[in-house]
Amino acid sequence: MAYKIDIEKCVQCGACQANCPVDCIAEENGNYVIDADACVECGTCEANCPVGAASAE
Ligand code: SF4
Ligand code: SF4
Repeated sequence: MAYKIDIEKCVQCGACQANCPVDCIAEENGNYVIDADACVECGTCEANCPVGAASAE
């Protein structure tokens, strides 16, 4: 299991990236992507996302 960002729901606010403790969320051309190998599944991105776009698969 890993966390994933639903790009259809994401409003590109950057809150997940700013709060990830292991800095494993990258932004490329407005798309936020989680590096599943580096993710420690802490759930902080899900807790900080205003639109529920980040969640565990
Ligand atoms: S679950 Fe935690 S470690 Fe994984 S991407 Fe979200 S904030 Fe980062
Ligand atoms: S916190 Fe949610 S809406 Fe904001 S960039 Fe991350 S996934 Fe997208």
